[in-house]
Amino acid sequence: MRKIEFYRHNIDNEDRERVLSVLISLFLTTGSAVKEFEDTLSGYLNVAHTVGVTSCTAALHLCLLAWNIGPGDEVITTPMSFCATSNAIIHASARPVFVDVEPHTGNIDAEKIEEALTEKTKAIIPVHLYGQMCDMKKIRQIADRHNLVIIEDAAHAIEAEREGIKPGQTGDAACFSFYTTKNITSGEGGAICTNNAEKADLLKMLRLHGMDKSASDRYTKNYQHWDMPHMGWKYNMDNIHGALLIGQLERINSLHARRKTLWHMYREWISGVDNITILQEVDNSRHGCHLFTVHVPSENRDEVLYFMQQHGIGVAVNYSPIHLLTYYRKTFGYNKGDFPIAEDIGDRTVSLPFYPLLKDDELICISETLRKYFDNR
Ligand SMILES: *Cc1c(COP(=O)(O)O)cnc(C)c1O
Repeated sequence: MRKIEFYRHNIDNEDRERVLSVLISLFLTTGSAVKEFEDTLSGYLNVAHTVGVTSCTAALHLCLLAWNIGPGDEVITTPMSFCATSNAIIHASARPVFVDVEPHTGNIDAEKIEEALTEKTKAIIPVHLYGQMCDMKKIRQIADRHNLVIIEDAAHAIEAEREGIKPGQTGDAACFSFYTTKNITSGEGGAICTNNAEKADLLKMLRLHGMDKSASDRYTKNYQHWDMPHMGWKYNMDNIHGALLIGQLERINSLHARRKTLWHMYREWISGVDNITILQEVDNSRHGCHLFTVHVPSENRDEVLYFMQQHGIGVAVNYSPIHLLTYYRKTFGYNKGDFPIAEDIGDRTVSLPFYPLLKDDELICISETLRKYFDNR
């Protein structure tokens, strides 16, 4: 049987060469390759500073610490995300407070944020779901009215834009992931982008125990004693991971163009199938095209997952809403019915294989398999 993987990465010979040149050099940890990656990402996103870290989870955690969010504070976020988003809030000893999502995008509903604010609210973490940006203009207005920090979870949205705004430009910071299945990947990895120079300096210390000098600073200049002015974590990106990302960032426009083509093909092939709907794309925006999801009737969803798998097609669920995960129910007392729109999406969503190396005929095979499931009902 033909096998169509859920995801395949795009690492090419040039990327491998770059990694090899790090491996035969002296310096494996944070150094020149990380700096080159950071500068390339800053340039691509048109933000002033990028800080390379080991994951998006680490990026979110460090941003909360850098903006002094901690015990007793509440942070608004969405239940329609990967658990990393709200786990990072708990890592910072703050409390996640969920707000339901828009039915047509799955993104946090900006209209519902103010109802959830309390005296303790300090920040908002919007998630640009599947690559479609949240309404950042509206969220910025709310944040300014209530003196809140915005930390964007842009794990899906490196290529996204809405009304001329990219991730990191309206938020105080944006966090990216280079995990195995993301649009560009180093297996594991993350980054923080910000226009705030003071916080960027602080974040560079916080990613390395809170030390004020890195091994590279000590190696490339005369020996300098280091101090530890802050309490930090061990989240620094190394040169091996940095090297793996530089070429992918240079190719990002052509990789995204292929994703866009596949996106339109899926829409064409699926539009005729009864029982399947897809989310809307908002006007005046560029979709990051990270995940392609379809919605099917909830009573068929799990059967659809098995049917696709039986036909050799990789599928996933993005996401079962976070508030219904056992830990969240037990710790915060959340229940079914608390965020009905997120729950409805969670009950109906199926993610299909979607990556630049997916072939046209594979996409047609996937669409036809889906159609076959519904034809046989
Ligand atoms: C993948 C992902 C993360 C976590 O990224 P890591 O780099 O694995 O920590 C966070 N948020 C969202 C929305 C994600 O998809």
